[in-house]
Amino acid sequence: MEKIVFATNNKNKLNEIQHLLKDVVDIVSLSDIGFNEDIAETEETLEGNALLKSHAIFDKYGYNVFSDDTGLEIEALDGKPGVYSARYAGDECLAENNMKKVLTELEGKDNRKAQFRTVIALILNGKEYLFEGLVRGTIMTDKQGQDGFGYDPIFQPDGYNATFAELPMSVKNEISHRGLAVKKLVAFLKEL
Ligand code: IMP
Repeated sequence: MEKIVFATNNKNKLNEIQHLLKDVVDIVSLSDIGFNEDIAETEETLEGNALLKSHAIFDKYGYNVFSDDTGLEIEALDGKPGVYSARYAGDECLAENNMKKVLTELEGKDNRKAQFRTVIALILNGKEYLFEGLVRGTIMTDKQGQDGFGYDPIFQPDGYNATFAELPMSVKNEISHRGLAVKKLVAFLKEL
């Protein structure tokens, strides 16, 4: 079976994709290939960072590889926190502080529209492919719900009366930015 590196060490993301692509391709992680360096995400777009991560591996090993990058894009904040979502309130990357900063910046603003966007950058036999998944929604005025991670307690997807932190994981995976981007990647790889 063909091997593709997923440039991550996030076990949850890895397991999910391995499960979806079992019998199709062999997905391995960064630690599986002995890559233990940190790849600094220095680009200013999700596409740029996803490609940068994939290139770090392709340029060093020549392996087929894909990477993902996700951001929360808030309309009234000109698309911020966007590519800075993980570290919006500082390098400690604390979800609580990031949410607090967003809620403070949106105080008094009527437009609370936002979207989560995931970009997956695949380099296959030296050629680049991008896959995008996005989910539109609204930023709540207070946190709601206990599940999930990151900005889940303040993001309510359109068409639902609950935040990502209140919805069952199976529902979130079905409609989420990452779920949609992964579905496109999986469909593409299955067609090869
Ligand atoms: P990453 O590119 O998957 O590491 O995501 C970057 C940051 O976006 C994370 O650190 C979170 O703050 C935020 N984020 C990504 N996906 C989600 C999600 O599904 N729910 C809430 N926050 C998310």
